Amino acid sequence: MSHSRTSPLIKPGSLLYKLLYLRLIDHHPEGKDIEWWARCRLEHICITPYFVYDILRTGIAAIIFMNFMSMIFIAAMVFTGLAIAGFQIAIDLRRKTQIHPHTDTLEMVKRVVLLRSLQWGVSSAFAMYLAPPEMLLHLVPVAIMVMWIEAIALIAVPRSAMINAGINGLALTIPLALIGGKGAIGAASVAVLSFLALHWLIFHLNYMFATRRLRTRKLTEAKDTIQLLLNQYDQDGSDWLFECTEEGHILRPTRRFCEASGRSAEELEGMQLLNLFYDSPERDELRQMGGQDENFQRLSVPLRIRGERRWWSISARKVTSPDGQRRYWRGFVADVTRACEAEERIKYIAHYDVLTDLPNRALFSTTIKRAFDRLGSDGMVALLAIDLDKFKAINDTLGHTGGDAALEIAARRIEECVPPGAMVARIGGDEFSVLIEHPLSRERVIEVAHRIVDAMHQPAEIDGQKARIDASIGIAFGPYDGANADEVIYAADLALYDAKMRGRNTASVFDSRMSEELQDRRQLESDLGDALAKGELELHYQPLVDTQTIETAGYEALLRWNHPTRGSVSPDVFIPIAEETGQIVAIGAWVLREALAEASRWPDHLTVSVNISPVQAMDRDLYATIVHCLATSGVPTHRLELEITESVLMRECEETIALLHRIRALGVQIALDDFGTGYSSLNYLRAFPFDKIKIDRSFVGDMAERADSDSIVQAVIALATKLNMRTTAEGIENAGQMDLLRVTECSQMQGFLFSKAVPASQLPHRKADDGVSHARITPLQKPPPAIDNYDTAVEARRSAG
Ligand code: C2E
Ligand code: CA
Ligand code: CA
Repeated sequence: MSHSRTSPLIKPGSLLYKLLYLRLIDHHPEGKDIEWWARCRLEHICITPYFVYDILRTGIAAIIFMNFMSMIFIAAMVFTGLAIAGFQIAIDLRRKTQIHPHTDTLEMVKRVVLLRSLQWGVSSAFAMYLAPPEMLLHLVPVAIMVMWIEAIALIAVPRSAMINAGINGLALTIPLALIGGKGAIGAASVAVLSFLALHWLIFHLNYMFATRRLRTRKLTEAKDTIQLLLNQYDQDGSDWLFECTEEGHILRPTRRFCEASGRSAEELEGMQLLNLFYDSPERDELRQMGGQDENFQRLSVPLRIRGERRWWSISARKVTSPDGQRRYWRGFVADVTRACEAEERIKYIAHYDVLTDLPNRALFSTTIKRAFDRLGSDGMVALLAIDLDKFKAINDTLGHTGGDAALEIAARRIEECVPPGAMVARIGGDEFSVLIEHPLSRERVIEVAHRIVDAMHQPAEIDGQKARIDASIGIAFGPYDGANADEVIYAADLALYDAKMRGRNTASVFDSRMSEELQDRRQLESDLGDALAKGELELHYQPLVDTQTIETAGYEALLRWNHPTRGSVSPDVFIPIAEETGQIVAIGAWVLREALAEASRWPDHLTVSVNISPVQAMDRDLYATIVHCLATSGVPTHRLELEITESVLMRECEETIALLHRIRALGVQIALDDFGTGYSSLNYLRAFPFDKIKIDRSFVGDMAERADSDSIVQAVIALATKLNMRTTAEGIENAGQMDLLRVTECSQMQGFLFSKAVPASQLPHRKADDGVSHARITPLQKPPPAIDNYDTAVEARRSAG
């Protein structure tokens, strides 16, 4: 297109501009568009049935012209007319078969148009010139009409149309000019004006025709592109499109839809969309949405595909069919399983314990609160607070995976014991809770608790090792033991604490006195924290007597706590507290140091026995502490005896056994304390080569009265002798018991008959003070530095002092 020679008065693009510069509205396609444009023009031209038109026009003209023209003229006109009609048939055929390029066919059209124009122009001009004047009145309007019809029908080929109009116009004006006269001049003027009008009209119509074709073409192209993209989207993406009738029946399911749903297109076609999903609140929501007219977005609905649970997110809007007859749903579905699973997982973690799959503390507290809200006037809730006994030991022995396995076993055992509808939760660590709403009776709840205790008591196998996962249970009832959820939880905890105090592996029902006891214990706990620093702890010594000579062979150091307000507190009370709080490690180290310092003032033949708690035995620094205390006191290792109970060995922890071996290798004696009170005692004798067995006083006390106790004591002594171990009989209170023992091979006796535990100052064999005051109580907060080689330590001390 060119913009040259335009007047500034005429605005480019305006109608006048287009009228004057026809080139500008002349469409000239390029490249691959040429063929397409030729096809468009051909299609437009062929709308007019030229073949019929040629025959009709020639036929009608021949009939009219016959009145005043020679037969030769008529024959020539008909012949050429038929020939042109023949060419037209060829054009139609070429267009339909598309064997030849459309551009070639279009050229042929142009030539045929020229031929037709010349044929008609020459024929009509001659006829016009030779027609009788009265005929002109009919011929002229017909000729002008033909000029218009033909030109307009040819707007697709504007230049040919103009040539056609020009020839037709000349064919009119030339004969009329030759004839002359007013009428003829008028008719010729109409012909000239017609030509001018047609000139503008044809180009303009052609322009409109071209732009319309181009627009449709662009639209189709865009539609094709979109369709292509949609197909792509449907094949590659995780989303897919769908259509449904207004009633929810699936229409034309796509391939992706079929694949995603695991169903064939035949199955899906016409199927209720809702039937793809299983019953769920989300499905109900989808049903509700489908009943409304409003669009909806990203509605996630669960379904099962090939047995697997999936989540689909559905968005849809209601559309009307192009004919306006029907309404239907159109939208897209995305498989959002992963996102939904992640969301569910988060929700799950917030409410459930991942290890045991039980509800967690958060869910449990909301549930118990709700249970309280629902509680009627005569309703009841029962709460069981469960704590695994000595779980820490299990964890230490079996490692964390073993500990986890124990927790899982515990969870399953609890679940098996509770009535249906009860909620079992893991509150944290080794704590579990059971909530029973509306229990049949208190007795039934207590029964459940005992069932759990019994079930837990069964040995469990973890990683091929036998373990005990005993549990203690506290029971409380709402609203009797507490007005709200928190109070009942607290009451159950107190009852649990009571169960622990009563020796664990049992259940206790809450009692109002328990809260006082707990207060009391909390106070003791905090007081004990300061006892060491304040010098309130003291060691008393009880003699161990040789059975044959009745002479003191050594002393057992027994801890005393002189509480500022309570007076003397029994070790049976405060040692368990110290063990639970971990204070026993520091206290035990102090006992070792103090007892050895004291023993250093005794004659060399006297031994000193120190009790070692199971918690201490698990302390990595115990060995170093022992070595350090021995070194600083200068007491030979064989004079020290450590008393441990079976519970130390119960964990079957290789580390503990190795530690005991190392201690024994120093020359320190190791005694098995309280023998006979534990579990499968004989096994422990095999597990470690003890130097001595201390027979528990419960057997010794009963010896005189009960034959079975007597035989047990006899058997133990016999066994120990066989195993090359010495024995100490504890709790000799009277001469009768002593006499019974003196006839056995028992090595030593201990008991009130000889002496109670007394302060060091009252010991008879005490040497003069060598500067290490027994009263000087030095709290041992930190473990001393590790000294692995005892001999070097003793040597170092000797050379220093
Ligand atoms: P145990 O090791 O079995 O200590 C012997 C207990 O029996 C002592 O009680 C002692 O006073 C008592 N006893 C001695 N002879 C008789 C008797 O003829 N009749 C009666 N009825 N009792 C007698 P105590 O001193 O109250 O100690 C109790 C427990 O506290 C000890 O039992 C021991 O397990 C623990 N304990 C004491 N001192 C320590 C310590 O320093 N460290 C550790 N870890 N535990 C200690
Ligand atoms: Ca003892
Ligand atoms: Ca004992």
